[in-house]
Amino acid sequence: MSQEWSLNGLIGGAVFADTTTPTETASPAPTVPPTESNAPTGTAPSTESETPTETAESTPPSAQSTAPPVTDPQETNQDKYQGRKLIALTFDDGPDSKYTPQILDILKKYDAKATFFVVGLQVAKNPDVARRIIKEGHTIGNHSWSHSDLTKLSEKKLKAEIEKTQQAVVKATGIAPELVRAPYGAYSDKVLKSIRLEHMKHVYWTVDTRDWAGTSVSDMRKNVLTNAHKGGVILMHSFGGRKHAIEHTIELLPSIIEELGDKGYEFVTVEELIESGQFHSSIIK
Ligand SMILES: [Zn+2]
Repeated sequence: MSQEWSLNGLIGGAVFADTTTPTETASPAPTVPPTESNAPTGTAPSTESETPTETAESTPPSAQSTAPPVTDPQETNQDKYQGRKLIALTFDDGPDSKYTPQILDILKKYDAKATFFVVGLQVAKNPDVARRIIKEGHTIGNHSWSHSDLTKLSEKKLKAEIEKTQQAVVKATGIAPELVRAPYGAYSDKVLKSIRLEHMKHVYWTVDTRDWAGTSVSDMRKNVLTNAHKGGVILMHSFGGRKHAIEHTIELLPSIIEELGDKGYEFVTVEELIESGQFHSSIIK
C-alpha cells in the first residue's frame, strides 16, 4: 500500500520533483526504513470516533528535508521585510486538547507565530483550541476533513473534504482559511485545481522533521538547523503520529526557536511569509 502510494505520488504530482534540487544537502536521514512509511490507508475516517491517527506527511526517502535553492524566494522590495530573515513553523493534524495547547504556550513564551494545518474532525472536537490559535495571532490552514489522500478522491469528495473543514474553522473561529496542505503532502494537478477554485493556496514544506515517526529530538534539531533557510517552511505536527512522538516535538520546539532566533530568524505565519515575498514559489502554489 505504501509503495503504491509513493509511486502514485511520484507520478501524480510535481511535488517530489520540486524537492529534488541540486542544493539537496546531506540532511540527517531519518532512520525509519522505507517500509515504515505511514501511507494513507485508503479508508478515510468518516465518523467522529475515528481520529486521523496515521497522520504522517510521508514522503519517499529521496524527498525528505530537501530545501529548494536559496536563490528561489521571490524577494520583493518591501521595506518592511528588507534585511529580515523569515521562516515559518507549521504544525499539522490538530488541534487536540493535549499537545496543541502546549505548543501554543511555547510559541507565546517566545512571541513566535506559526501556522496550524488543521483536520476538520479535530476542529469540530476542539473548537476552543482552534479559537485560541487565531486569538494568539497564528494562522489556520485547511488540512482536509478526515486526513484522506486527496489524490485518490473524486472531485466531489475532494471538494467536500476542503469545504467541510472550512465550515468547521469558520464556525469555531469566524475566519475562513486561505491555505491548504494536502494530507501526506500528496497533491496532483487535479487537487491543486480544486484548491485554486476555492481561492486558496497549497503549502508544502522545505524541512520535514518526521516528528510523527518518533524521530529523536537531537536528530530533528540537527535536521532543522542544517536545512533552515530564509523563506523556509518547517513541517511538524501538533497531534497524532506514533506513541509519544509529539512529546519530542514539544521538547524540540524551544531549542529550535532559540537557536534559529540566535541566527537571526523570525518566526512568522505562512501568510506573512507570502506577504513578505520571502517564499519559494515551488512550495507555495
Ligand atoms: Zn497530516
